[in-house]
Amino acid sequence: VDRFEPNLRIPGPTALPPSVRTAGGRQMINHRGPEFAAMLERILTGMKPFFGTTSDVAMITTAGSGGLEAAVVNTMSPGDKVVGVSIGSFGDRFAKIAGIYGADVTKLDAEWGYAAAADEVRETVRATPGVKAVLLTHNETSTGVMNPIADLAAAVRAEAPDALILVDSVSGLGAVPFEMDDWGVDIVVTGSQKAWMSAPGLAMIAASPRAWAAMEQATMPRFYLDLRAHRDAAANGQTPFTPAIAVVYQVDEGLRLMGEEGAPAIFARHEACAAAARAGLSALGFQLFADPAAASKTVTAAWVPEDLDWKAFNGEVKRRGVVLAGGQGKLTGKIFRLGHLGSVTIEEILGAISTLEFASLASGRPVTPGAAVAAAQVAALEAYGVAVPAAARA
Ligand SMILES: *Cc1c(COP(=O)(O)O)cnc(C)c1O
Repeated sequence: VDRFEPNLRIPGPTALPPSVRTAGGRQMINHRGPEFAAMLERILTGMKPFFGTTSDVAMITTAGSGGLEAAVVNTMSPGDKVVGVSIGSFGDRFAKIAGIYGADVTKLDAEWGYAAAADEVRETVRATPGVKAVLLTHNETSTGVMNPIADLAAAVRAEAPDALILVDSVSGLGAVPFEMDDWGVDIVVTGSQKAWMSAPGLAMIAASPRAWAAMEQATMPRFYLDLRAHRDAAANGQTPFTPAIAVVYQVDEGLRLMGEEGAPAIFARHEACAAAARAGLSALGFQLFADPAAASKTVTAAWVPEDLDWKAFNGEVKRRGVVLAGGQGKLTGKIFRLGHLGSVTIEEILGAISTLEFASLASGRPVTPGAAVAAAQVAALEAYGVAVPAAARA
């Protein structure tokens, strides 16, 4: 372990808690033996409350995008009508996968920085008779926007009661509440390297009874990603193929830590970190990218000011040990992103804001030392319901 570890503030992969790191270094075991079976059972059962489902969850060794691909190829047939609701890069990717496998995709694109509008989703679904599936992004990591999945799912259901609703919650699940069964969502995909505080390598996918039934009819080609094979193997405590055992150890340990902390405390911590990040960046004079009404709880995006030499500024930030993410796709060079998910503390966010303050002063931006950190701390306290007297504010 380095003397000074960077404050890794990208929206995944996220930093690993010490015990998760240790877990990843454990000796290999027989993945067809009882120890693995017990671990797989703990993970698949332990994840269900975070999905908000009583249905079966599958675990596949793949990046999050492989999980999205699994959602598509298991439920659709070539020529199926699909509505791809996109609010950023990851929504585009989900729709692209469906198109590549032969689905007839109608895109609904929201302006980047905003959530999808329920009435527009409803309108698009209405205009697509016989729609087989609707693709939604829960947390759009490229823009720092969180979609109101309950509202969007209700809008879909109002027009197409039988359509499958497939949700990319790779960077949302585990950090914020999700009620798959109550909201009538059919497939939800998440990934080990985001809120689950583990290395990349595993995608977890929950499917509703309707989705499991659809898999028997779907004809898109699939072998490795066939969720039925994963479900059937899991019933015997196994995976159909050799899993990323080191990452499985980590997710098992991450879930143990999450169980200790408890879901309400985890969700409150993400809320508070998000509030601190938004307040701190705003106080530093950065314009936030996302519509405040739809701001993500796991990643905050801000515009790079036109008069700022971003390379020099970010170089100073990096030199001081904070790693930020840049923009993706058409936002490359235009925004930067600060991740606050998984193993993240308020103190790490305050530290990152402090570092950005130092870098701002170094690049001659007009900031008052300590003011942004104070604003961030007040926001975090308020998110926790602690009243901060006006006189005590900076
Ligand atoms: C990270 C992420 C993905 C993709 O994950 P990979 O592991 O890089 O394939 C998909 N969707 C969202 C919203 C993400 O944040």
